[in-house]
Amino acid sequence: MDKKEMICIVCPIGCHLTVTKDDGEPSGYSVTGNKCKRGIEYGIKELTNPTRVITSTVKIKNAHLKRLPVKTNGAIPKGLNFECMRLINTIEVVAPIKMGDVIVKNILDTGVDLVASRSM
Ligand code: SF4
Repeated sequence: MDKKEMICIVCPIGCHLTVTKDDGEPSGYSVTGNKCKRGIEYGIKELTNPTRVITSTVKIKNAHLKRLPVKTNGAIPKGLNFECMRLINTIEVVAPIKMGDVIVKNILDTGVDLVASRSM
């Protein structure tokens, strides 16, 4: 894909970016519509290797709630989101769990861990 329009989600301003393939640029892409440099990095990454932090919940036993909030401690490739959610839906942990405890190390070989978002 040589050109893509998107909204930058790095900050609440939400600039409308246009990312275009451009061999004249060192990165190979030019970005317009960004109000700051972070938009350039975001736009190129979103076009070439989009990633997302996953937030969800897993089942927990022996706790006052039935589900424990979890998140990945880094962004994983967007193409793995579905597989990641399928894996998360099979997990059951047992209290006590502390915020930051690793629930799944190196989830789907991404180098990113799934961790507890709160203690329970
Ligand atoms: S380009 Fe900069 S100012 Fe615009 S939304 Fe992204 S981070 Fe915010």
